Amino acid sequence: MTVEGDAGAKPGDAPHAMKITAAVVPARSQPFEIQQLDLAAPLADEVLVRIVASGLCHTDLHLWEGHYDLGSGKKLMLADRGIKLPLTMGHENVGEVVAVGSDAKGVKVGDVRLVNPWMGCGECKVCQRGDENLCLKPQNVGVFSQGGYATHMLVPSHRHLFDIGKLTPQQAAPLACSGVTAYSALKKVEATLKDEPVVIIGAGGVGLMGVTLARKMGAKDVIIVDIDAGKRDAAMKAGATAAVDGSAADAVAQIQKATGGGAWAVIDFVGSSETVNLAVSSIIKGGSVVVVGLFGGDVTVPTPYLPLRAMTLRGSYVGSQSDIAELIDLVNRTGMPPVPIRTRPLEQVNDALNDLRAGRVTGRVVLTPAA
Ligand SMILES: [Zn+2]
Ligand SMILES: [Zn+2]
Repeated sequence: MTVEGDAGAKPGDAPHAMKITAAVVPARSQPFEIQQLDLAAPLADEVLVRIVASGLCHTDLHLWEGHYDLGSGKKLMLADRGIKLPLTMGHENVGEVVAVGSDAKGVKVGDVRLVNPWMGCGECKVCQRGDENLCLKPQNVGVFSQGGYATHMLVPSHRHLFDIGKLTPQQAAPLACSGVTAYSALKKVEATLKDEPVVIIGAGGVGLMGVTLARKMGAKDVIIVDIDAGKRDAAMKAGATAAVDGSAADAVAQIQKATGGGAWAVIDFVGSSETVNLAVSSIIKGGSVVVVGLFGGDVTVPTPYLPLRAMTLRGSYVGSQSDIAELIDLVNRTGMPPVPIRTRPLEQVNDALNDLRAGRVTGRVVLTPAA
């Protein structure tokens, strides 16, 4: 183990804990508390990082409130999924390496790295093929384990760390969640992306990322659907080529017209009953709907539609390690999406998340716990 400012440590010395400052949710919907916590020194392939950027995400609101809405009055309680409070949230993290375990490879003290938060067990078939985000024993940072709303984090393995190239930490942090979520969803419709218009529902933070990434991936036509005129404008500025008001009575007809007869691909970054129904109604025969948003709700799809319309209705959850690596490479080559980023100190976490919940955030907010 190598510790910055700890040149006196000798091989064989017992690893010692350090004190970190963290923003902790003590109980459901209760305000975050700034606390001092103990953090162990890195062993084996663990890596200790100092968090220089930690992005805020809508998922954090669900974690804070403790549930997802399943529609028809039902709720998916996060406690039933093994998510325990108190919790230090924060899953969009870039850190500077301050200490490495004896088996950690590929990183050294001083390196700045994105932490892939979608960690699995690392051993099962799913993890071995690279889809740790779909592991049945998730260890996701800031969800099942301590996140980045803290000065430091112990990353369980060097394999979760990614070089950000020429991006700044504040630019790179949102790639870990909103970025890779949008990228992975777009990859699922890659077959038609360059030749047919892609419809993106929802111009929030992830949707805007989706619009700009779609263009970078070669989409010529990106049709944004949102009920908010301001958000539609933001999406047009971010590269959308047409906009449809999702609350219009003829929204389906407008989408079918804009796509020349029905959409081959709709990506729903909202995920409400209304938006999924709109998406399913708007596709052409053979078209695909990819649901990404976790707004909540339920839909009824007549089963004959599936074969008769040869339709695909699928979900997409965050992204794999290779998605993260490809995305960082894409953004380094083609430039960062022009999504506005605001930085705030760790102590403002309550205000920052309340702003997000109230819809007062355009783009992304990034906390700077140890800046
Ligand atoms: Zn997120
Ligand atoms: Zn696994």
